[in-house]
Amino acid sequence: MVDQGLAARYQEVQERIAQACTTAGRGRDEVTLVVVTKFHPAALVRDLVALGVEHVGESRHQEAVAKHAELTDVPLTWHFVGQLQSNKARAVADYCQVIHSIDRESVVQKLATLDHRIDGFLEINLTGDPGRGGVEPEHLGALVDTVLETPTISLQGLMAVAPQHEAPEAAFERVLGMRQDVLARAPEATDLSLGMTGDFEEAIHAGATHLRIGSAITGNRPVAP
Ligand SMILES: *Cc1c(COP(=O)(O)O)cnc(C)c1O
Repeated sequence: MVDQGLAARYQEVQERIAQACTTAGRGRDEVTLVVVTKFHPAALVRDLVALGVEHVGESRHQEAVAKHAELTDVPLTWHFVGQLQSNKARAVADYCQVIHSIDRESVVQKLATLDHRIDGFLEINLTGDPGRGGVEPEHLGALVDTVLETPTISLQGLMAVAPQHEAPEAAFERVLGMRQDVLARAPEATDLSLGMTGDFEEAIHAGATHLRIGSAITGNRPVAP
């Protein structure tokens, strides 16, 4: 039996996504929902699959690799959305088909040694704080060029998390500006991974193609161990 609270929250988020697509004049099929399941057990992921979920996102390698091992029998696309250390990059690419958080050359160099191809997004740091995940906007162009020289990464587009103290509309607008520069170099890299529980409707209006939604669907995360 699928948890009824989970089923109801999933249904409600799906309705809100459909509604936002309608108001934005976009097709629902232009938007991929990635359900972020960090801190939640494999059993919850199984429930999500029963509800029709096809894409899940994880942010911590240690936890994700164990969960993936319990779920090899279910058809899912795995997305890595959290900060990625270069020494974990190859291991993450073993079970994740999509990495949203490529943000530095050292990660690209590790991914360059893979014997298979992965889909990659470049994460932009919108906070102005260099300690946070994501490439600083002024270094984005150079990172795009490096990724374009890396045959094992298929560059999909840009990913960002809206900073807490900025309206999401304004933050997403900045990403759209950077995307123009990226498209000049990489016309295929049209995707936008934007939008979480607090701002996915704004993200759909801004043109997001991938939503990374956690707690609105999963409920509150258990406290981090
Ligand atoms: C946890 C997380 C999400 C989902 O966050 P919610 O606010 O729970 O929807 C999305 N993106 C990243 C990078 C995350 O770490």
